[in-house]
Amino acid sequence: MALDIVVIGAGMGGLSAALALKARGHRVKVFERVEVMRPVGAAISLWPNGVKVMHELGLGTTIERLSGEMTRMRYLSHDGHLLSDFSLTPLFDAVNQRACPISRAALQQTLFDAVGAEHIHLGRHCVGYTSGPEKVVTTFEDGERVEADLLVVADGTHSKLRDTLVGRRVERQYVGYVNWNVRVAASGALAPLESWDQYVGEGKRVSLMPMGTGGNDAGEQEFYCFFDVPLPAGTPNDSARYRDELKEHFAGWGAPVQALIERFDPARMARVEIHDIEPLSRLTDTRVALLGDAAHAMAPDLGQGGCQAMEDAWVLAETLTSALAEQADTKAALARALARYDQARVERVGEIVRRARARAAMIHGANAAETRAWYEELGREDGNGVRAGIEKTIRGGPLP
Ligand code: FAD
Repeated sequence: MALDIVVIGAGMGGLSAALALKARGHRVKVFERVEVMRPVGAAISLWPNGVKVMHELGLGTTIERLSGEMTRMRYLSHDGHLLSDFSLTPLFDAVNQRACPISRAALQQTLFDAVGAEHIHLGRHCVGYTSGPEKVVTTFEDGERVEADLLVVADGTHSKLRDTLVGRRVERQYVGYVNWNVRVAASGALAPLESWDQYVGEGKRVSLMPMGTGGNDAGEQEFYCFFDVPLPAGTPNDSARYRDELKEHFAGWGAPVQALIERFDPARMARVEIHDIEPLSRLTDTRVALLGDAAHAMAPDLGQGGCQAMEDAWVLAETLTSALAEQADTKAALARALARYDQARVERVGEIVRRARARAAMIHGANAAETRAWYEELGREDGNGVRAGIEKTIRGGPLP
């Protein structure tokens, strides 16, 4: 049976959900606050669990084509001394899928085109909803009300609609560090073209990851680069100061780090104070499902926020399909589907939010002794530990 479904938010979570639900024959309308989609941030690493969902939704081949081929991983000390260097291929072989580091703009456009512009209503700011036993009604800033069988709330980390579902204000928590991210032309002078290089020291981190061309006009390979620095919340964000700021924070770091600081274009750089939210004990209401960052904003230290949004989308479409096949009554089927969504997602995403926060603390020197121990461990890492950790995350998903 086809349902009327409203999705709030056209980020990677909302669009993945729209695509998965449309593919099951539902009538889906996406409403997005902004007039023009301009993803903030340079790129994203889609790990195999996210890419597998994209394959199920018919976008895997496009995403593989637009993304970077990252086959190795290296850790280096701040001054450029090699700590570890290992292949990621055994991991990708074990889970039958490689990772796809990809430009955010390319991923967004791919999802947007697949859903279809005619299903996405831009410039529509949702201000609230009322969920009743028969229908859910969403309200927009212009006063319009839209009725549906199901509402998918995918309005991101700052979600206001989440508070209605949870029944209280959910405060975002500062994780303790600032991230600057940017794309630069790939060059062997910065890092090997197939390797994810990370420089670590002083609780800071510099990362360079091959992210392919993203379909850019020049067909030029790029690196997705970021700088992490532990700082108090609320430090000034002035793009004219980015280069000088990073020169100060990374004085004395290795030559590739200095070259990168000279090369990036501050106008293309994003600077983010990293926040998460406490894991929620439920993600659904009578006719509402929370999805993506609205449901589980997390520190990016496992590279899982977007991948989990994709898993959410896949699980929601699956639970809806199975419940509708089992129950002729829509109301009962929806209740069953949403209960199963909660069952499948609450623990999974809660555990990843907690692990991402713990990893952020370890990487960024929240406890100096723990961070020092991690640096020492990296000097002994042969790849098995890192690969096993990533594989565990992938195997815990709906498409292991
Ligand atoms: P969003 O992308 O925030 O989309 C929400 C949309 O809702 C927006 O378009 C917004 O305009 C719209 N909206 C908001 N309010 C309303 C409203 N009231 N009405 C209508 N529309 C509304 N994840 C990974 O998987 N791998 C990574 O490598 C990775 N790296 C990251 C690095 C950094 C520095 C950060 C900050 C995050 C990273 N993430 C990563 C996480 C990832 O970016 C997010 O998890 C993902 O973007 C969440 O998508 P979303 O659709 O839930 O939310």
